[in-house]
Amino acid sequence: MRRIFVQCSEAILVTDRDNRIIAVNAAFSQLSGYSAEEVIGRNPRMFSSGRNEPAFYAEMWRAINEDGAWSGEIWDRRKDGNLYPIWLTVSAVRDNENRIANYVATFADIGERIEASNQLLHLAYHDPLTHLPNRLSFESQIELSIRACERDHKQVALMLIDLDHFKMVNDTLGHHVGDELLKSVANRLRDCVRASDIVARLGGDEFVVVLPDIDCAMTIASIAGKVQRSLSDSSHRVGPHTLYATPSIGIAIYPGDGRDGETLLRNADTAMYHAKSAGRNNYQFYAKHMNAAAAARLELENALREALSSITPTHSPFTLHFQPQVRLSDGQIVGLEALARWRHPQLGEVPPGRFIPVAEETGLIQPLGDWVFWETCRNVRHFRDCGLHGFRVAVNISAQQLRHENLPSVVRGALACYELTPQDIELEITESTAMQNPELTLSILNQLSDMGIVLAIDDFGTGYSSLAYLKHLPIQRLKLDRSFVQDIETDQNDAAICSATVALGHNLGLELVAEGVETSTQRDFLARLGCDTLQGFLYSKPLPADRIVEYLRSYRPTRLNG
Ligand code: C2E
Ligand code: MG
Ligand code: MG
Repeated sequence: MRRIFVQCSEAILVTDRDNRIIAVNAAFSQLSGYSAEEVIGRNPRMFSSGRNEPAFYAEMWRAINEDGAWSGEIWDRRKDGNLYPIWLTVSAVRDNENRIANYVATFADIGERIEASNQLLHLAYHDPLTHLPNRLSFESQIELSIRACERDHKQVALMLIDLDHFKMVNDTLGHHVGDELLKSVANRLRDCVRASDIVARLGGDEFVVVLPDIDCAMTIASIAGKVQRSLSDSSHRVGPHTLYATPSIGIAIYPGDGRDGETLLRNADTAMYHAKSAGRNNYQFYAKHMNAAAAARLELENALREALSSITPTHSPFTLHFQPQVRLSDGQIVGLEALARWRHPQLGEVPPGRFIPVAEETGLIQPLGDWVFWETCRNVRHFRDCGLHGFRVAVNISAQQLRHENLPSVVRGALACYELTPQDIELEITESTAMQNPELTLSILNQLSDMGIVLAIDDFGTGYSSLAYLKHLPIQRLKLDRSFVQDIETDQNDAAICSATVALGHNLGLELVAEGVETSTQRDFLARLGCDTLQGFLYSKPLPADRIVEYLRSYRPTRLNG
């Protein structure tokens, strides 16, 4: 028994019934720093750290004397003065007459264990990249903020912040650069708000800021503006890169927009989505009607997903319509534009202006765009087999499709499959698409152009691009946006823009196509400006394949046709 006492790795301390120390073992001396001689005869109170309240000790002694034992965590003081946490068990030992004869205390240092569990706790509640609180921690903190503000009848604002086009940074420069950008964003967010406000990272490029104690919406707007400027005004330096991170911010306010964290977050997310569709880099306050819009959008997204997966070689809920393009000089049809149409059994005819943006946001434009291209080629084969020649068919290409290296191989594959040449088709890229991610876009456009494919800039005049920039792209055609053509006779500005664009385009050796020509006055006006080719209802609405075949067969060109 003695040997066990001596060699036990836990510290053991024995006192008499008056709580005077009568024996300690070696482990005790090692942990506490006191030798046996220094403590024998004294009261263990000498180790007290002062960190525990008198009530704590009272309860401990009650348990020992009444229940026979107590164990728990307690802080003691070492001989060198340092405090350390121990796990202590004290038992009362009784003699034959059931009177307390001794107290036996055993304990071990649990400092490392506490340290490790603190670290685990930190890991569980913090994002390891930015060291901001994570979603778990945010969820518990927001509830606390809400409860506190509920008492004081204050408002709590929740700002959901999503970085615009962050995926592009990751995709083009790598995750390492993306990580550094997130850290820089986290630091700026922290600097924008008070120390008592919550800044957390929910995951990916989503951050959340909680502002408790808000008195009016103006304050929130000014902080949202500050966050927006702080992130977007000056660039983030990451290694050799200069990066810009603009945010889209959605704001929901307790209690009006939700009485718990979950609802607030969901509504802030809806508002954030509206900020994205309002052109990004802005903030939006949540409004009730937004949910209806979000639900409709979700319904459309699901329907689109389903429609795409239902496509078989013989059946598709999507079809293509074709609209002719007429050359002014001789009235010949020099092109058709292929336009996607979607008929849903319940939703009916969904216009491309509605489903294309959803397809773009959700990535579904990839499979849809591939389908459109293959289906166009199939139709061109059909037109040629019907003996119809002398025109190209133009396909609309979205930004996302241009960001994927596989576009040239889809084009090559479909052309080969239907025994067509690159001169049979044309690709339309919107102006804003051509401006995004210029390097990658340029490389893909060059590959397509090198194959001999004609490229056109669509909706020209609606984006921010300059002709000076477009000059570097391998394009042959500019399509003047419909909105300019529409008011060309009545709006002097539109007329001036059309006129200048035609002149500049010609100087750069580009062919000018006007879209949305509906009247002969518009046609004559555009002819005077020197426009080359016209497309619009004046000639024909977009028609299904069989009808366009009829149209082309019966078409008789005249100069200034209409
Ligand atoms: P867009 O490429 O600018 O196509 C021209 C749009 O103008 C078509 O609308 C066409 O029907 C319409 N239009 C043509 N002539 C006239 C006219 O005289 N008056 C008026 N008011 N409108 C006219 P649509 O078919 O509704 O397509 C809208 C947009 O959806 C297209 O604009 C294009 O950006 C996009 N889109 C359509 N199909 C596809 C596709 O297969 N892929 C991609 N990425 N986008 C597509
Ligand atoms: Mg187009
Ligand atoms: Mg257009």
